Amino acid sequence: MASPEVLWFGDTMSAVPLKNDKPAARHPRSVTVLGATGSIGDSTMDLLRSGGERYRVEALTAHSNVQGLAKLAREFNAGFAAIADPQRYDELKDALAGTGIACGAGESAIIEAAARPADWLMAAVSGAAGLKPALAAVDRGATIALANKECLVCAGDMFMQRAVQAGARILPADSEHNALFQALSSGNRDELTRVIITASGGPFRTWSAADIEQATLAQALKHPNWSMGQKITIDSASMMNKGLEVIEAAYLFALEPDQIDVLVHPQSIVHGLVEFSDRSVVAQLGAPDMRTPIAHCLGWPDRIAGPAAPLDLAKIGQLTFEAPDFARFPGLRLAFEALRTGRGATTVFNAANEVAVAAFIAQKIRFGAIARLVEATLEKWVRAGNLAPLTSADEAIAVDHKARNLAAALLPEIALKAS
Ligand code: NDP
Ligand code: MG
Repeated sequence: MASPEVLWFGDTMSAVPLKNDKPAARHPRSVTVLGATGSIGDSTMDLLRSGGERYRVEALTAHSNVQGLAKLAREFNAGFAAIADPQRYDELKDALAGTGIACGAGESAIIEAAARPADWLMAAVSGAAGLKPALAAVDRGATIALANKECLVCAGDMFMQRAVQAGARILPADSEHNALFQALSSGNRDELTRVIITASGGPFRTWSAADIEQATLAQALKHPNWSMGQKITIDSASMMNKGLEVIEAAYLFALEPDQIDVLVHPQSIVHGLVEFSDRSVVAQLGAPDMRTPIAHCLGWPDRIAGPAAPLDLAKIGQLTFEAPDFARFPGLRLAFEALRTGRGATTVFNAANEVAVAAFIAQKIRFGAIARLVEATLEKWVRAGNLAPLTSADEAIAVDHKARNLAAALLPEIALKAS
């Protein structure tokens, strides 16, 4: 029987590595970046660039940005480049002609990229599309920096169990979860009482419910602190992102919903806090720059130089905190409800939110209707008796597809409905 330290997260959750489970770092490390052309991908490539000879790029992937992908593949002399859009294969092949870099297209090529042997993999595809490729990396027992929170929201139990079975290591890259990951090693599992993840509150933190209802796309895309991809920026404005992160934390660290608190912290300097039984609270702080948590994952188990600005608390002067407002930001309430419901409800929550955000971007629904569509989809799903534990990726993906169809069917009615 292993010591409590060894089983930090319990038998099923030890896929998040243990504080005394430190393999020797070796260089050059081979790395793969799924979603290399995105915002997280960009930060990751930036770190790899400054790491020089320490890293060798095994594979890079993108969805449709062929030129961006080819440019990165050439710069880093990648072993393999994969584009998800099958129509873009010829374009990618032409862009890589003469380089000797192998390439592929379609979902299978993204999965192939993930399955290729690499010492470290960044999972930064956006949305539920990231699940199968991340599982391909899990199944080969990879060390995975996980940014794609939808993997956990869609299929958290199954994902973490498969990681444990395959001996994969999951390094939380999302800033709040990375903060918890760093703070958790201050104590033992049975001494943990709760975790707190912070939220900036987004651009609508101080807005009235009526103004939030009418918010435009341009307003939703103006995040006060973080520079991120479009979907997650809108999710931050609705606080759906924090909801997804509550669910993400529950699965990553095997926590009960009541052990997770959200704290609004407009400066985004304290990212996550862990409370232990003696009421000590251990927090991780840093400038709001995703290169810091990514650097922690890339360097793990060691620390590497990070390019973020040093934290100057004297200059910042004040750190403030507020309780979240579940009435103006119903997405957060719905996330807790979905987590408590379980049995696929978080998959439905995520799928309906993806449909709602796409509809908002296409100007088919108002901002306020995003949460209404998610709530209506969840309600109808539960009433139809569809809840059941998800035991495989195919089951999770089937629920995701069915929930998207249900959300799409409810969309016209929600679009017409005033708040
Ligand atoms: P972006 O939209 O900026 O980038 C997404 C990346 O995934 C791009 O490389 C994109 O390719 C690729 N991609 C999109 N759809 C598919 C698909 N169907 N199949 C394969 N590849 C696809 O997203 P972010 O970088 O902002 O976010 C990535 C993930 O990280 C998300 O899950 C997000 O929640 C999470 N995250 C992001 C943070 C951030 O600061 N941005 C912070 C914490 C978590 P292409 O460029 O060709 O479209
Ligand atoms: Mg986050």
